[in-house]
Amino acid sequence: MAAPHRWRSRTIAQHVGEDEKLLGAVAPPIFQNTLFVQEDWDAFTRSAEALEGPPYLYSRLTNPTLQVAEKKIAALEGTESCKLLGSGMAAMSGAIMARVEAGSHVVCVDSVYGPTRKFLTDYLCRFGVETSYVVGEDPQEVFDACRPKTSLIFLESPSSLLYRLQDLGAIGSWARERGISTAIDSTYSTPLNQNPAAFGIDTVCHTVSKYLGGHSDVIGGAICCSAERMRGITFGEAELFGTVMSPFNAWLVNRSMRTLHLRVRAVAETADRVANWLRGRDEVARVFHVGLPDFPQAELRDRQMRGWGGLLTFEPRDQRVEWVRPFTEALRVYRLGVSWGGHESLVVPLEVQPMDWPEKRWIVRLYCGLEDPEDLLEDLEQAFAKVAAG
Ligand SMILES: *Cc1c(COP(=O)(O)O)cnc(C)c1O
Repeated sequence: MAAPHRWRSRTIAQHVGEDEKLLGAVAPPIFQNTLFVQEDWDAFTRSAEALEGPPYLYSRLTNPTLQVAEKKIAALEGTESCKLLGSGMAAMSGAIMARVEAGSHVVCVDSVYGPTRKFLTDYLCRFGVETSYVVGEDPQEVFDACRPKTSLIFLESPSSLLYRLQDLGAIGSWARERGISTAIDSTYSTPLNQNPAAFGIDTVCHTVSKYLGGHSDVIGGAICCSAERMRGITFGEAELFGTVMSPFNAWLVNRSMRTLHLRVRAVAETADRVANWLRGRDEVARVFHVGLPDFPQAELRDRQMRGWGGLLTFEPRDQRVEWVRPFTEALRVYRLGVSWGGHESLVVPLEVQPMDWPEKRWIVRLYCGLEDPEDLLEDLEQAFAKVAAG
């Protein structure tokens, strides 16, 4: 069980979970083994019940390499436990499954990650679980959507296309008083920029495939919560769906944790520059970026977040696909692709209609990576020029 750590986040990321140096190795080695053998009957019995090792039983439950990174993430997030899983979706679907039963009702934000919505609406309906969607910016709208059968409120703040926030403190305390569980997809923020558990949110989910992995070479997820909730997930969703992360991926995550603060700060600075530059362009109708001084939810942002990341989105003035397509294809440094949080800049064009928009609009999401910001600005400049030239 992780004791609350008095170290600051950068020190936690280097040292927590690494007290024991096997043969003096400063980089913890990979335990690439499926099972663990025990010296005696008692250890064998204890290994089967342990939420954390030693003793360890079997790597589908837990493994020493996973525990190194799990202890860091739990300490950064301020929760008793963290569990690394095979993907972000294993974290989202596992956290949801842990809090619903046949006939349950879920309240979820409309701006939630697409596959999470698909899981709630298209998959869980098979088991009689119903989901209501809300914009989520006004906590009262969330409360009003709850029913007697509501067992879970699922949040994503900020969301990952238009960066909408929910008031974590207001929703967390209201739900707790009524015995309704709360969970959040906090991938955008990483544990460095937001700690939802401090605001009363029960379960904090991350996609490790983004900033936590950080080099576009790991698919992974994490669930952070109390030890009691984690016991249910470890011997429930994680054990039974078999969604554990591989030791090699956990080793890569541990490597990545050491530079998390450097990477997130660098991409946020670049995104600030790009967002401000885009605001001065005639081709751009609106820029969405958490770091803008006039971000619509700036007061809430400053209350519950410590910073932001490298994502931003703009709405092109020319809404024809004949503009959006050649623009995204003209970019050279920003590559056309989903995902974000790695070293490389990315662009993804999408036609979206949030609940509170009267119509569909084309948006262009940019992820600013670790390249030189000058090269990114030049890339955007040449793409705007190329589309204008036809
Ligand atoms: C990528 C992403 C996920 C899913 O993560 P995977 O590791 O791809 O399963 C979930 N939520 C958000 C916000 C994401 O960006």
